[in-house]
Amino acid sequence: MAETYDVIVLGSGPGGYVAAIRSAQLGLKTAIVERENLGGICLNWGCIPTKALLRSAEIFHYMNHAKDYGLAAEKITADLDAVVKRSRGVAKQLNQGVTHLMKKNKITVHMGEGKLVAKGKLAVTKDGKTEELSAKHIIVATGARARDLPFAPADGKRIWTYRHAMTPPEMPKKLLVIGSGAIGIEFASFYNDMGAEVTVVEMMDRIVPVEDADVSAFLEKALAKQGMKIMTGAGVESLKASATGVSASIKGKDGKVVNGEYSHCIVAIGIAPNSENIGLEALGVEQVKGHIKTDGLCRTNVEGLWAIGDITAPPWLAHKASHEGVIAAEAIAQALGNKDVHPHEMDVRNIPGCTYCHPQIASVGLTEAKAKEAGYSVKVGTFPFIGNGKAIALGEAEGFVKTVFDAKTGELLGAHMVGAEVTEMIQGYVVGKTLETTEVELMQTVFPHPTISEAMHESVLAAYGRALHI
Ligand SMILES: Cc1cc2nc3c(=O)[nH]c(=O)nc-3n(C[C@H](O)[C@H](O)[C@H](O)COP(=O)(O)OP(=O)(O)OC[C@H]3O[C@@H](n4cnc5c(N)ncnc54)[C@H](O)[C@@H]3O)c2cc1C
Repeated sequence: MAETYDVIVLGSGPGGYVAAIRSAQLGLKTAIVERENLGGICLNWGCIPTKALLRSAEIFHYMNHAKDYGLAAEKITADLDAVVKRSRGVAKQLNQGVTHLMKKNKITVHMGEGKLVAKGKLAVTKDGKTEELSAKHIIVATGARARDLPFAPADGKRIWTYRHAMTPPEMPKKLLVIGSGAIGIEFASFYNDMGAEVTVVEMMDRIVPVEDADVSAFLEKALAKQGMKIMTGAGVESLKASATGVSASIKGKDGKVVNGEYSHCIVAIGIAPNSENIGLEALGVEQVKGHIKTDGLCRTNVEGLWAIGDITAPPWLAHKASHEGVIAAEAIAQALGNKDVHPHEMDVRNIPGCTYCHPQIASVGLTEAKAKEAGYSVKVGTFPFIGNGKAIALGEAEGFVKTVFDAKTGELLGAHMVGAEVTEMIQGYVVGKTLETTEVELMQTVFPHPTISEAMHESVLAAYGRALHI
């Protein structure tokens, strides 16, 4: 007899495990299916272990700049194995945390490879044995994996994906990073701070191309000042690994091909959805380039089948996955008769994005260019960190805050930041945007002194010609 649930969640990343917890909270009999590690990519191979690595690099950077703060530190060295060990320890701690949360919420965990076999039916295979589960509703949260270069798949020795870069066999001396999205730039920043000679190749005409153009330009200058070599509008034409390194042919902006030798290469050209072999085709689930098509409440075109997180449309971020997990669980509870839940539709315009390179970047909403493209006439304010007392006191005067408003209504359309701690500050604007704030409310908000967040206030004032400290 198949074990029967109200909800089965396939995949236990930040989308899946949060969906399971919310389902259980709402009194639904819930199971989760996972083939590898509870917590998915985010806790085990993504957001969290990279931040642990970057924290070590940040401290190393400060130790190397002790003199700037009137301090002395001698014989500063980095032990990459110990740095990686700490990062893996952090990942393990969080993985165990998810195990605990599953128990606490009485969610049944089925470890194994899951596959949809019919509407409401899922087969889970482990060690050659298959069990069948059934549920009134199934949420697909199988996430994604690194995309390989078609002509040079990662070998884990010289050509790395993010997984190899997180547990490197040795410290790269001369590192080529292909792709300057969040993942590529974070690893470039980490290894650069740790002492590697880093080159970043980006096909688009600027790095972190989804960000505001001013942020891209500022970050490129900052990283170049730290010694990084950055090639934009450039494409890797061939990549060959040997026992000692990697040879790359890179076609530059000017059309000329240059050949370079590197000790290692990280390929960070995007993700591929885990949508193969999970039974989507047989059920007729609509997909766009392998990502499952969903509506604002995470429903697929098949009744009783839901999808959340990286397996669906972008942005491919952990907090988007978790938020969708809650929406899907609440929508399912409602469909099963719970009249006290009120699921809301996801609004992608209010999902922030953070990149933890050095300096950090963070943003929400429309860039200036996208706002203009969408037909808005805009008011734009920019405030540099050099006008902020706390940033100067911290020795972190490199950065700025840019805000974009609808000139007609004063609605905050977007906010873009680069500099220290901006990944912690962006949430102020996210709350404002979610509450559909205007310039008036932001101007009337009191910001604590001294904080870098005062630059957020000043940026709003600057959009209306009222900045005080510049
Ligand atoms: C290096 C790196 C750094 C990142 N940093 C950030 C960051 O700072 N902030 C941020 O918001 N996002 C970050 N991300 C992205 C973030 O990790 C993802 O957006 C997030 O993990 C997506 O969550 P998910 O639940 O959709 O899927 P995943 O986390 O990918 O989890 C899916 C789970 O499903 C399991 N699974 C797949 N198929 C099956 C199957 N057939 N049967 C059983 N189990 C299956 C997988 O094993 C996996 O555990 C980062 C990603 C990487 C790679």
